[in-house]
Order: sequence, then C-alpha cells, then structure tokens
Amino acid sequence: MSAAPFPKSRFSDALPPEAAAARHRLIGTIADELRQAHWHPATLPVSAQDLAEGAGVEVRARGGAQEPLYPYRGRLLYLDERPVIEVNLGEDAARRRIVLAHALGHHLLGHGPVPPETLVTLSTCCPRRIEQEAHHFALDLLMPEVAIYRLMDHGMLSARKLANKFQVPEASLHERMQALDRRSGYL
Ligand SMILES: [Zn+2]
Repeated sequence: MSAAPFPKSRFSDALPPEAAAARHRLIGTIADELRQAHWHPATLPVSAQDLAEGAGVEVRARGGAQEPLYPYRGRLLYLDERPVIEVNLGEDAARRRIVLAHALGHHLLGHGPVPPETLVTLSTCCPRRIEQEAHHFALDLLMPEVAIYRLMDHGMLSARKLANKFQVPEASLHERMQALDRRSGYL
C-alpha cells in the first residue's frame, strides 16, 4: 500500500495536510491555555516574559552593549534538563518579544533541542517545519484573536497602531492578520 499523495510543498519536511492542520490547532490550543493561566485579557501587550516564566522557563538576557559578540538573536537551551531561553538585548524590543515567544513555542511544542535563533531560523521562509510552527505560535501568543478584534471593533483599524498596542513589528501584525484568515479589507 502506498502513501496517499499530497501536494508538493516548499517545505522539505512538511506534513500531509491533515496532520499539518492538527498541528495548527494544537499550536492555537497551547497558546490559549498558556494565556488563560498567566494573562489577564484586559492587559496589553501580552507579556512574553510572564508567559515564559509561567511555563517554567528561565529567561536570560544576553548580548547588548555588555556582550556585543553574542552571536544569536536568542536561543532555547536545556541546562540540567531545565529550559532556559536567552534573548539578545541588542534586538529591538518588539523583535525581542517575538524571539522569546518563538523560542517558547519550540519548548512547548516539544521540538527538543533546536538550533539557536538567527536571521535564517526566524525568517518566515525558513524551510524547517519546527521553525514555521514556532513562528506561528509566537504570532498567536502575542496577538490573541479576541484582543485584535476587540480593538478593531473599537475603531483601531491602523496596522501601525495595532502593532504598537501589541508591541510587535508591524510586519508581524500583518502576518497574524493573514493567519487569522479573515479578510478585513482595511488593514
Ligand atoms: Zn526557532
């Protein structure tokens, strides 16, 4: 018996569509559960730091002016089996939040030891499935659907203002809107 064919993907290790959809639902569920436990829905921006610590992850500041040769944007490590996420202080604050949420995604999605975060792993075009999943998790975690639509219902229709409210890069806000698969027409 041969495996059912599925459409070719640009991702070398892509899952069949049904499995990919199940992973997507799981990502949303994990982000939801974490926020329910450690985030008050009226509070924006969502604190990536609080959520990481709530998930039992230690967050360490690296890089920046004190350590200019730190080579990564961040990374997930396991030290004595305890999860630690390093973030590079040299990054812009909004980018740093995305990196932290992305690395947290790797941990909570059970990706195991993963490569340090660089321009390549954080790119939306990174061909590895685990990077795509962590990216999707980060966008979901920091931009809850309910909060986006609540703000839009109250008249905040500017991508720049929304990105500012969530303290994420404007490009990330656009990606999140696309992922929500609702064509609002005015962003
Ligand atoms: Zn990654």
